[in-house]
Amino acid sequence: MEITEKAPAKLNLFLDTPFNHDDGLPEWNMIMTSVDLADYVKIESISGKKGIKVRTNTGFLPNDHRNLAYQAARILQEKYRVRAKVIIEIRKHIPVAAGLGGGSSDAAAVLRGLNKLWKLNLSLEELAQIGLEIDSDVPFCVYSRTAHVLGKGEKVIPLKKLPPMWVVLAKPKLSVSTPYILSKIEHKELQHSNIDLMLDAIDREDYDSICRCMGNVLEQVTGKEHPEVLKIKDRIKQYGADAAQMSGTGPTVFGICSKSSRAKHIVNSLKGFCHEVYLVRIL
Ligand code: ATP
Repeated sequence: MEITEKAPAKLNLFLDTPFNHDDGLPEWNMIMTSVDLADYVKIESISGKKGIKVRTNTGFLPNDHRNLAYQAARILQEKYRVRAKVIIEIRKHIPVAAGLGGGSSDAAAVLRGLNKLWKLNLSLEELAQIGLEIDSDVPFCVYSRTAHVLGKGEKVIPLKKLPPMWVVLAKPKLSVSTPYILSKIEHKELQHSNIDLMLDAIDREDYDSICRCMGNVLEQVTGKEHPEVLKIKDRIKQYGADAAQMSGTGPTVFGICSKSSRAKHIVNSLKGFCHEVYLVRIL
């Protein structure tokens, strides 16, 4: 038995972290959405056999328990005592360690896929709770639709579909370690924006207000370590994006445009200046 699941990249339209919990994990207050840049995760289950095998089309990603897709399969295998070998083949399209949640989305795809293959009949809410054991972004990725995400990532409140827009993703040639950036946060120094204004803008389907109300409190933190990220953001704005912002802990910066011609102009202008550039749509 096999199934292929799409694992879309995520963007943080809004990201704030008001404090750290006693266990060191951040409290999140985020608005996340998914775009049509995706990995493809083929999951095969062979009953009566044991083990988990992961293959990717990259030379550098781990194929063992360090791969988040592997962890997803192991958790379901153990929790529901399924005697079956799982073979996972990941075709990566999402840049790695980019702030686009590729690993989390692959893990969520495995949870959704095995839920179907093994007829576990778990709801998306149940899969999301299981996903939290892997990474704070996995619960969101189980749904992969625009949502308000709170707590340690476990509270995912679906929001209205966003107005149509074109999104330019620009990833400089550097990888950012999420744990490192999180360790650099000084909560007292962060300049917080108001998420309620953004929630209201989405509810009113007001594209201009959405552009005005975006914010990512970690831009200051990553930008201090990697000023290139802020330079790319400035360029995207100069080239005419309606708004631009870093996603997650970076380094990918995205620009949004209501007009496809403007977005294409930005993509062309960034070529040569930025290592990887993509033109995508919100799902
Ligand atoms: P975060 O969700 O923490 O912001 P990110 O989007 O910046 O992460 P990912 O592409 O998910 O970055 O990769 C983060 C780390 O996870 C990398 O160091 C990578 O080696 C590891 N990893 C484990 N499994 C995967 C996977 N299936 N795809 C990508 N990275 C993976």
